[in-house]
Amino acid sequence: MTQEDLFKKIVSHCKEYGFIFQSSELYDGLSAVYDYGQNGVELKNNIKEYWWKAMVQLNEEVVGLDSAIFMHPTIWKASGHVDAFNDPLIDNKDSKKRYRADVLIEDHIEKFNDKINKEVEKARKRFGDAFNEEQFRSTNQRVLDYQAKMDAVKARFVKALEDNDLDGIRQIIIDEGIVCPISGTKNWTEVRQFNLMFDTKLGSVAEGANTIYLRPETAQGIFVNYLNVQKTGRMKIPFGIAQIGKAFRNEIVARQFIFRMREFEQMEMQYFVKPGTELDWFEKWREKRLKWHKALGMGDNKYRWHKHDKLAHYANAAYDIEFDFPFGFKEIEGIHSRTNFDLSQHQQFSGKKIQYFDNEANEGYTPYVVETSIGLDRMFLSVISSAYCEEQVGDETRVVLRIPAPLAPVKVAVLPLVKKDGLPELAEKIMNRLKLNLNCQYEEKDSIGKRYRRQDAIGTPFCITVDHQSAEDGTVTLRHRDTMEQERVSIDDIERIVTEKCDIKNLLRQLM
Ligand code: ATP
Repeated sequence: MTQEDLFKKIVSHCKEYGFIFQSSELYDGLSAVYDYGQNGVELKNNIKEYWWKAMVQLNEEVVGLDSAIFMHPTIWKASGHVDAFNDPLIDNKDSKKRYRADVLIEDHIEKFNDKINKEVEKARKRFGDAFNEEQFRSTNQRVLDYQAKMDAVKARFVKALEDNDLDGIRQIIIDEGIVCPISGTKNWTEVRQFNLMFDTKLGSVAEGANTIYLRPETAQGIFVNYLNVQKTGRMKIPFGIAQIGKAFRNEIVARQFIFRMREFEQMEMQYFVKPGTELDWFEKWREKRLKWHKALGMGDNKYRWHKHDKLAHYANAAYDIEFDFPFGFKEIEGIHSRTNFDLSQHQQFSGKKIQYFDNEANEGYTPYVVETSIGLDRMFLSVISSAYCEEQVGDETRVVLRIPAPLAPVKVAVLPLVKKDGLPELAEKIMNRLKLNLNCQYEEKDSIGKRYRRQDAIGTPFCITVDHQSAEDGTVTLRHRDTMEQERVSIDDIERIVTEKCDIKNLLRQLM
């Protein structure tokens, strides 16, 4: 199965099993906006819980916040979003398709990397155990040529971005012979800037009303509450503020399912530190965040670091964590050292002093900020796409979602073997005991085999079958999702066994 086919299957599986629906589907849909269904919302909530507890509960110096989506419009002037939250767009005149010019170039650069990796893999096969990858990369002429070409395009691209040189960006597309994936032609328009913020009107009448923006990131809600939280929480630097919430961006090219949406959710944490210590904290948070991802056990090789070649003018370090999605390695989380840019801007635009007074050093300063910013929907997509698995069982194909047990939407399904002989009543009794602690599902329709498959397809780690023996000796069959193994266990032990495997503590413990 190609990666493209796999991705298509994941998208339709998400719909068929109540994870994700196209928004407004009844009215033919709204592009790049999605609704989470009965299983999707559970998985999403579990991801949030994992992030929140890892941030706020495990770090005593990190506290939470839930700020409003609507904010004073000057905030977006101060943050730079009104003037500079733009993407460079370009149209292909033949296909009439619109693209982000920077993404076209980034994808082109990535192709050099693919070519280099292919050479490395070919050589690895040829040389076997004697293969020295480092030496090969630094001496093989073909690899060196690709690398040189890639570096040259990258350098031009960074310079054009830094100079905000839209003609320069277009020229790279022309010179590199980048074609439209739809029409296959190089018939490109000029490159133009496009602001990504949605605006609306505050007030009952449009006339005289204020234009306000739907926030394009949650971070500014944290910056403008820095003083409130610091003072009322009597927080000492270093400390962090964490928030989960919706953000809105009028993305030019919104494809790839929930990877790029116009309405999405972010989980962000701003960590306020003493100036001069920010790069140490930056490294610590990089390490912590990668550990958080890896603890899910989806495979360490699925993550890689991407260092920003072009830093925003206020940042002094920035890395992304990229995940190996079915459509390649793409950003899932950003970790940025943002200096004191945001707080200084808000100090200037609001005219209010935003400072921290360090009693020990007897000095005041504007704190520096290290932020970690992850897209909840992209995280969701990473979990679903690495969990999706088709395997041959006898002569049928089993589709199973190997979702890490603590994140699974349903933890245990309770299934009476037949709909008579008091089995449903006993099953319901078990269900009532378990549901105080665990999200359970009761199912009595269809054969037990079909019911197992349905639970596999939504990633339920355990199924319990209540049969005639259960009424006699108080035991049930416990079936494990991943191995399909079945064992006989006492009804009294179920809660302990399931909780042991599904507890979010299993993930959190790995972060200590
Ligand atoms: P990209 O380069 O992919 O547009 P970005 O660098 O603009 O992303 P940030 O502004 O750093 O993204 O936002 C932080 C995180 O929010 C990203 O790592 C991503 O996970 C998530 N995110 C950003 N834009 C979207 C979107 N349109 N849909 C879903 N998630 C998004």
